Amino acid sequence: MERYDLLIKSAFLPDRGGVDIGIKDGKIARIEDHIEAEANYTIHANGKLALPSFANMHTHVPMSLLRGIGADLPLMDWLQKVIWPLEGEFVSPEFVRAGTELGILEMIRSGTTLFMDMYFFEEVVGEVSKEAGIRAGLGFGILDFPTKVAKTPDEYIKRAREFAKSLKGEELVFPVICPHAPYTCSPDTLRKARELAEELDLYLHIHVAETKGEVERIKEEYGNTPVRHLESIGFLSDKVLCAHMVWLDEEEIDIVRERGVKVAHCPESNLKLASGIAPIPEYVRRGVHVTLGTDGPASNDNLDMLEELSTMAKLHKGANLDAKAMDARTALKIATENGFSAVGIKAGRIEEGYEADLILVSTENPHLQPLYDPIAQVVYSARSSDIDTVICRGKVLMEKGEVKTLDEERILHEAKRWGERISSFLDRLRSQG
Ligand SMILES: [Zn+2]
Repeated sequence: MERYDLLIKSAFLPDRGGVDIGIKDGKIARIEDHIEAEANYTIHANGKLALPSFANMHTHVPMSLLRGIGADLPLMDWLQKVIWPLEGEFVSPEFVRAGTELGILEMIRSGTTLFMDMYFFEEVVGEVSKEAGIRAGLGFGILDFPTKVAKTPDEYIKRAREFAKSLKGEELVFPVICPHAPYTCSPDTLRKARELAEELDLYLHIHVAETKGEVERIKEEYGNTPVRHLESIGFLSDKVLCAHMVWLDEEEIDIVRERGVKVAHCPESNLKLASGIAPIPEYVRRGVHVTLGTDGPASNDNLDMLEELSTMAKLHKGANLDAKAMDARTALKIATENGFSAVGIKAGRIEEGYEADLILVSTENPHLQPLYDPIAQVVYSARSSDIDTVICRGKVLMEKGEVKTLDEERILHEAKRWGERISSFLDRLRSQG
């Protein structure tokens, strides 16, 4: 008799109905109405919806510890007056560990099994990701100015090379080269980052065209808008993931499509920091590869991809005065399959041969009954607390609402302790005026 690592009994697939799902070697091996087989572990889904898990394609997870600070400020004030001074004081391997544990706990609870992160001490983010059993594409921000990572651009590049080497052979965690943005990296730094990524065959992850102010600044400095500027120095390719991409003109959208650049749309962060609304339906229509991210939890203020995709779908309907501008199925695909495939992972669909990254969603709650159109109702009405089970690469990370790979009580306790230290520092700052 066949034997599976994991067997899910009586799940409900939106377009098919009740099924059993057999999982082997981290992949979906079989989907049938009934599977009679042995399994190392069996989950009885009792009719819960099976959906692909989410891919959070742009975030700064350790910033979980700075959640809620500097609310109601625009991006540059928020960064310069609040976030950078706090990071200068507090960011350390211990801070990054506590923030990452808190962030991954939240991500597992809300159904995410891949995140693309850019921050300091990413080796610590990698350790926690492996412990938690979640996929992560990691790189520290490369900048022209000194931080705790490095002093000069060349030193950043050297550190990025060492970091990439240190992750060689890992299955869940992979290195990414992360020049921070065209306004914080000179053309020379961007070129060196691009060369390193090409040499090591890695993805690049960068912030681009987030605010109107950035566009003006790049125009002044280089005589070009951000995407044209990146194109002119040979930076763009299908291995580049650009976060935000709010302010692009028609020709820039063509460049992005032609180069195969991946866009990480971050609607809630763009709304909260008043950066603007990226014309995502236009990108989709023109064949740009669009993915979704929350951005850091300090500018969102959470890592909840279900909420993010619901916001995305409604935002673009309203902004375009068109209820079809972003339909529920497109929104779900952007938040799942498009994210995984952007970094070469065959996941985001519940089909045989795909990676076993999926969630089970309970629909036995008042806000999901009666259930007529499961996908639309998940997109517009489900909450992350409806997510009952989360599976990454065939491993059960959460079952019946209980996270199995992290110590929730300890993590919340430590987050509160960090919160107290950070609060008293903020009080001191304020009293000094
Ligand atoms: Zn960001």
